[in-house]
Amino acid sequence: MTLLFDTHSHLDSHKYDADREEVIKRARDAGVHMLVNIGFNRETIPSTMALAEQYDFIYAAVGWHPVDSIDMLPEDLEWIERLCAHKKVVAIGEIGLDYHWDTSPKDVQQRVFREQIRLARRLKKPIVIHNRDAHEDVIRILREENASEVGGVMHCFSGSWETARQCLDMNFYISFGGPVTFQNAKVPKEVLKQVPLDRILIETDAPYLAPHPFRGRRNESAYVVKVAETAAELLGKSVEEIGAITTENGKKCFGIV
Ligand SMILES: [Zn+2]
Ligand SMILES: [Zn+2]
Repeated sequence: MTLLFDTHSHLDSHKYDADREEVIKRARDAGVHMLVNIGFNRETIPSTMALAEQYDFIYAAVGWHPVDSIDMLPEDLEWIERLCAHKKVVAIGEIGLDYHWDTSPKDVQQRVFREQIRLARRLKKPIVIHNRDAHEDVIRILREENASEVGGVMHCFSGSWETARQCLDMNFYISFGGPVTFQNAKVPKEVLKQVPLDRILIETDAPYLAPHPFRGRRNESAYVVKVAETAAELLGKSVEEIGAITTENGKKCFGIV
């Protein structure tokens, strides 16, 4: 049986309120044996922690999303720090920059991003990076804040090979999601082929970014198999091999033994 590690999911989302248990069961049936759920603001951090406590195979990452950075108070950073002591919390994230939405000004996003990188270095936790339309500033801040000390994941990577290479140099894993499965996704497919095998991760970002042929619909963790199939095809490997390789990578990245 194929075993898969979905390294980025939001199964606590309200989009699953009507059928969350079935969604989780379908993920299990599809071979998802490890999953990191991401809590990224005041509302989703508690619901992420609840899922991680309820299900053995679900781990948690907690952080403050750039879109919500305008709302982050000093006590929120302390809250994240306290949660990092929980045995199921494997990373700080998702954190980063999002220049697509303008709910939080760029300077606020950058300050909150830097504060969380510093916290991660102090606690020796990997970080999960969200980057939308902000490649240059993300790379610059990761470098200025010595993020290579902790490394982590570039989640749902959408950049060029040049950007990927810079992230690899700073000890980051490159995670591919639904968009790499789209037929017109030339650049992500090329990047996936160039990333060293021991640095590739797969994810869904469910309920967002459903892979082909579910594009535009609600995504779910079971569909991570579609990302694994695309990677298998591009790399000339079996889906089982991709599942095993990305599971090993994910365990190493998040320090799961
Ligand atoms: Zn994200
Ligand atoms: Zn996400």
